[in-house]
Amino acid sequence: MSARIIDGKAIAAELRAAVKAATQRLTSAHGIVPGLAVVLVGDNAASKSYVTSKSRALHEVGMRPLDYHLPAATGEAELLALVKALNDDAAVNGILVQLPLPPQISPARILNGIDPDKDVDGFHPLNAGRLMTGLPALTPCTPVACIKLIKTVHASLDGLDTLMVGRSHIVGQPLVQLLLRENATVTIAHSHTRQLPELCRRAELLCVAIGRAECIRGDWIRPGATVIDVGINRVAAGGGSRIVGDVNFAEAVEVAGAITPVPGGVGPMTIVCLLVNTLRAACAQAGLPPPDV
Ligand code: NAP
Repeated sequence: MSARIIDGKAIAAELRAAVKAATQRLTSAHGIVPGLAVVLVGDNAASKSYVTSKSRALHEVGMRPLDYHLPAATGEAELLALVKALNDDAAVNGILVQLPLPPQISPARILNGIDPDKDVDGFHPLNAGRLMTGLPALTPCTPVACIKLIKTVHASLDGLDTLMVGRSHIVGQPLVQLLLRENATVTIAHSHTRQLPELCRRAELLCVAIGRAECIRGDWIRPGATVIDVGINRVAAGGGSRIVGDVNFAEAVEVAGAITPVPGGVGPMTIVCLLVNTLRAACAQAGLPPPDV
């Protein structure tokens, strides 16, 4: 059996078109062009490429990217001052500080300094708490992307036996909250979990975000299961390198019912979910109802 490939690129393109249309409606009806400040500190090559893709994606849907590139030696107080200025700037609807930050800067202090209403990454403790308690919140983009992809396979997640491998604050934990909201039955695994292969074999829905290249093997997967692979790992290949997920795709595709590829699965959807959050933030700040995307 060969699994259905969950085509994140194509699904993201559809959502991007809907976001573009909703942005055009917001601009023509209310004169608002959603603005997202994207802050990069230092010269990390992967971060630079993420920031460039995000800015391009904003342009494409008619939003305004506001790029801030600070030197690697920037101090915490200086970055906090920039965040405060962006909090106070009405033309800025969302603020994204690209991680990782250089070692002299505490990411927690910076993320906690962002106005929760402009926190389009959804990492502020207030938004995390709101998500946990079922209140409306700006929610981290990657977990939202995963849910949207899962729903292209499962109209309902009610009671679905689900394993979340990974418990980070960025992916695993918020995804668990969203899965619970959909009434999935969720087990959480992490680096201290015993008998991970057996747990995986039980899951009808297997979500993996661990940052370990091709760790999940084909014979760990329940036949017909849906597999969501969040991992992005660069591995050596033929004198160069290539990107692989946390799941061994070549093996898993023979067993799973549906699977996200890497690249081309969760990644493209994540960027579009950032656009959705920026649009949501802009609407909320203008006292308008949430957009229908
Ligand atoms: P992270 O903060 O490093 O967290 C990794 C989690 O995986 C931790 O909870 C850790 O357990 C668990 N873990 C590590 N090794 C394990 C193992 N062998 N077995 C079981 N659990 C294990 O990583 P993250 O930020 O969540 O990112 C995870 C992956 O997703 C990375 O490859 C990252 O690049 C990728 N990612 C992709 C996107 C996207 O848009 N596609 C977005 C964000 C992240 P402990 O808690 O016990 O340490």
